[in-house]
Amino acid sequence: MQITFLGTGTSQGIPIIGSDHPVCLSNDSKDKRLRVSVLIEWDNYTYVIDCGPDFRAQMLANNVQKIDGILFTHEHADHTAGLDDIRPFFFRQGDIPIYAHDRVLDQLKQRFEYIFATENRYPGAPAVKTQTVENKPFRLANTTVTPINVWHNRLQVFGYRFFDFAYLTDVKTVPEEEMQKLTGLKVLVVNALRIEPHHSHFNLEEALDFVAKVKPEKAYFTHISHLLGFHEEVEKQLPENVFLAYDNLKISI
Ligand SMILES: [Zn+2]
Repeated sequence: MQITFLGTGTSQGIPIIGSDHPVCLSNDSKDKRLRVSVLIEWDNYTYVIDCGPDFRAQMLANNVQKIDGILFTHEHADHTAGLDDIRPFFFRQGDIPIYAHDRVLDQLKQRFEYIFATENRYPGAPAVKTQTVENKPFRLANTTVTPINVWHNRLQVFGYRFFDFAYLTDVKTVPEEEMQKLTGLKVLVVNALRIEPHHSHFNLEEALDFVAKVKPEKAYFTHISHLLGFHEEVEKQLPENVFLAYDNLKISI
C-alpha cells in the first residue's frame, strides 16, 4: 500500500494569499501546503480522501491516471470544493464513486446540483455514484474500510482506516469507543493545526497526546497552518516516530 500526501495545509493553504508571514514567504518547498487530501493505492486500486479546491493541481502533480473513488471526511469547502474537477476521470471512466455520510452527500447535492441532476443534464457535467457511509465497516474494492467517528467541534467527521493505516483530519475530539479501531496501526495521520489551541482542531500538544495514546508505529501530522511554524524547525522538536507530512510525500506501508 502506498500513501501520497496530496495536500497538508489548513483551509487557506500555505502561503495564504497576500500574507507576509515568514512561513508564507518561506522558500522551503515543504512549507508550501495545498489543502488536505491523500491518495491511497494498493494492488491496482486508487482512492482519494477528500476533494478540495486544489484537487486538479494535485492530480497533475502526481500524474494520477484514474481514480476508483473519493471518500469524504466532511463537507467543509477545503475538503469538497474541487469536485467539478473529476471531469477528466468521468470522461474516461464514467460515473465516479463517492463515499460520504448522508449529511455530506446532501450538502454536495446542494452545492453541485448539476453533478447530481438526473434530468436535463448539462452536456459535459460530470456524474457520480453515491454510497452512504455509516459508522460501520464497508467493502471497498478487495478490502474493508473502517470509518472512525470523530468530532470537529460540533460537526461529525469520518476518519478512515485501511489495513494498518488510519487517516483522521479536522479532529478535535475522538470518542473513547472509537479508540479500539485504532489499535495496531503502522501509520496514523492526524491533524495538528498550530501551537495555540483551536476550537475545532487538535493543536500540536493535543496531536502529540493523541499519538501517545494510540501508539502507532509512526505518525504524520497534517492540516497544518502557517502558525505552526517552519517545517524544518517544528519537525526537529518531534518524537522520533512522529513527523510533519508535506505535500507529495509518499510512504509505503
Ligand atoms: Zn479542513
